[in-house]
Amino acid sequence: MIEISHVNKWYGPAFQALKDCTTSVARGEVVVVCGPSGSGKSTLIKCVNALEPFQEGEIILDGIKVNDPKTDLPKLRARVGMVFQHFELFPHLRIIENLCLAQEKVLGRSHAEAIAKAEKLLDRVGLKAQANKYPAELSGGQQQRVAIARALAMDPIAMLFDEPTSALDPEMISEVLDVMVDLAREGMTMMVVTHEMGFASKVAHRVIFMDQGEIVEDALKTDFFGSP
Ligand code: ADP
Ligand code: ADP
Repeated sequence: MIEISHVNKWYGPAFQALKDCTTSVARGEVVVVCGPSGSGKSTLIKCVNALEPFQEGEIILDGIKVNDPKTDLPKLRARVGMVFQHFELFPHLRIIENLCLAQEKVLGRSHAEAIAKAEKLLDRVGLKAQANKYPAELSGGQQQRVAIARALAMDPIAMLFDEPTSALDPEMISEVLDVMVDLAREGMTMMVVTHEMGFASKVAHRVIFMDQGEIVEDALKTDFFGSP
């Protein structure tokens, strides 16, 4: 589903953020990316949906070459859900409108279709009652669940998470992780940058460890954490 081959990326002429990164994520696989701050985790997943360009190597997403000038990037990005540390909801739009906007503008769904999908997903993440509120009226954990629902509304082929729980108060972390665990169980292809080793040991199929821009370990979970 996601094939990353020999990717080198520089920020500016001198700083190499990714060094010969090669890995892949199979359909239905959950891969956790961990490593110290500044090791390139966020950069790596941003390269997957072309939020960051890279200079060398190749990334192929569901058969489409990401770093090909002919690739329609907005269309490609719409097919990959991305959830960030800061929820990045549109503050001036109600929750339900946050979920409908891209469905209508990018996928061309009718308003009725978009609303139906949005309501179903809000129900799924336990936030049906918040549909008409604004993001600022919700807790951080609720906003992050909305962000996940918004990404799912696009029927993504894979989901990328960049430290989805790092900005949350401790008591809100599990409500977000629970949604991610459900997604993983349903067979969603996921790449997750996180420091939540509980999630990694419970849900990940593989764990990638990065250090100074390199993938220094890429192991089956059982190898990474030791046998159960
Ligand atoms: P991580 O997600 O592992 O914390 P990042 O991928 O965010 O690491 O960053 C990797 C390195 O690249 C860090 O040294 C960071 O400061 C640098 N970096 C990230 N984004 C930029 C940018 N837009 N311009 C320059 N350097 C950047
Ligand atoms: P993340 O943890 O998601 O990488 P950061 O807080 O590290 O987020 O970075 C926030 C933004 O600043 C990102 O867009 C990143 O690309 C950019 N950034 C990070 N490090 C640097 C840097 N050294 N120089 C310029 N921009 C940077």
